[in-house]
Amino acid sequence: MSAPARLRIVGGAVHDPANGIDGEVRDICIESGRIVSALPDGAPTLDARGMVVMPGGVDIHSHLASSSCNHARRLAPEERAADPVPAPALLDRTAPARSGTGGTVPSTFTTGYRYAGLGYTTAFDAAVAPLMARHSHAELDDTPCVDGGIFLLMGNDEYLLRQIEAGEHARARDYAAWLLGAAGGYAIKIVNPGGVEAWKTGQRNVTGLDDAIGGRKVTPRAVLEVLADAGNALRLPHPVHIHCNNLGLPGNAATTLASMEALQGRRAHFTHLQFHCYGGEPGKGWSSASAKVIEYVYTHPEVSTDVGQVMFGPAMTITADAPVEYLLYQSSGRRWTNIDIELETGCGIVPLAFKEKAAVAALQWAIGLELFLLSEDPWRVVLSTDHPNGGSFLSYPALIQLLMDRSVRDERLKQVNPRLLAGSALADGLSREYTLNEIAIVTRAGPARLLGLRDKGHLGPGADADITIYNRDPDIATMFSTPRYVIKDGTVIVEEGQLRRAPAGRRLRVAPGYDDAIVPDLRRYFEAYSSVSFGNYPVAGLPGEPVAP
Ligand SMILES: [Zn+2]
Repeated sequence: MSAPARLRIVGGAVHDPANGIDGEVRDICIESGRIVSALPDGAPTLDARGMVVMPGGVDIHSHLASSSCNHARRLAPEERAADPVPAPALLDRTAPARSGTGGTVPSTFTTGYRYAGLGYTTAFDAAVAPLMARHSHAELDDTPCVDGGIFLLMGNDEYLLRQIEAGEHARARDYAAWLLGAAGGYAIKIVNPGGVEAWKTGQRNVTGLDDAIGGRKVTPRAVLEVLADAGNALRLPHPVHIHCNNLGLPGNAATTLASMEALQGRRAHFTHLQFHCYGGEPGKGWSSASAKVIEYVYTHPEVSTDVGQVMFGPAMTITADAPVEYLLYQSSGRRWTNIDIELETGCGIVPLAFKEKAAVAALQWAIGLELFLLSEDPWRVVLSTDHPNGGSFLSYPALIQLLMDRSVRDERLKQVNPRLLAGSALADGLSREYTLNEIAIVTRAGPARLLGLRDKGHLGPGADADITIYNRDPDIATMFSTPRYVIKDGTVIVEEGQLRRAPAGRRLRVAPGYDDAIVPDLRRYFEAYSSVSFGNYPVAGLPGEPVAP
């Protein structure tokens, strides 16, 4: 038996907000892939004097491994031609080193390499149709360096809508539990509750929480309530993850607040909040409604959010919200894809660029920053760009710079189209600058806590030894885009900015219990309506053990 792998990280300024450590110089000890409180003298050391030590980054909402990502890759071949990625020169020859392509939706191996290069060691794909989960798991198998999982799309699926319509809420909960286990999901994701089903049945969309969905006696409100209750009753590590109705439309802040109020008192996560914080009215104009929404979030501790910041530059919009993509296709004139996933959900994809001279893009950029800068609880308002929807995850360092450096932010503000910024808190001058500890909260400690990942996002004994070490640099974007060292499960995978090792990541999934009485009913349903047999539907050979509730 070989000796346990040990490493002592010496002399770095540690930012571990989950354990109340804010820049204190102290050693971090690692043994066999985990943080330990002490090591024997003579253990190997890594000199981090003068550097900043944080837990590995945790991405709570990304689109990195799915059949939709694959459609997006096919839709933009020019991006791949423009960004070829040679295989990295790994020191550890036991792991494959693969070439790939970049762009807004990098190929699988490149996605893992680039996340690691930024110091991120965990990432979740936030929208996977259960029927396509097998594809996502295969992509995650080929996405090294990061532990990952998938959120399963529910709320536009025929079986669930039937249970809600029949008042069978316990059965709806059993179905959600069965589906999470069968498809290897980590959390329940709702996208435009009822709107995707309405679009597929020829209705344009649903707009209000009490609209009927596709002629049924089911409303978006009922979908939200039943699935939020299911997630909480099943004690899932992450509560229901919600993309509200009316994404991207002027005036949608009213829908967002109504959705939050509908779930008042229930744990729920509202994702890419920036896309849901618009004042104004369709056809009449836009404004920022960020202050009202963030005030609600602050005063309701059961609510958590990620921002979905828009960053100027190329993006790829990928969402199950097919009706919104149809609008985007019409307004942008760009190419697009629309996909039906039988009985479950839909998908739309439109490549896009956010331009600072475009008034709406400038407003979206400002609203995202307002949410960050007006937030009084960074633990519940965490960082995302909804990669690649608001911008690539590669833009996180530039976003961190905007949060930490007011002078850079103010300079940028002068360059954007000001037409819609009247009444915007950002244009009125927000002086707040995030501290390193607040950055550690919104990029690792906060997302890990919201995801219920007890062993991630902190550096206390027992935690996974996923650690990022940065050189200090007056240019914050440079500091965060080129970590000096990245450590995954106790192994140094990035040194001096070079990827050295690329171990496979672990799969994070749940398998909650359910009443077996649902099985014969599901079998009948599959035999009657599905092109996939019930026996073939569950994903076989899922890696790792499910996370305990
Ligand atoms: Zn998303």
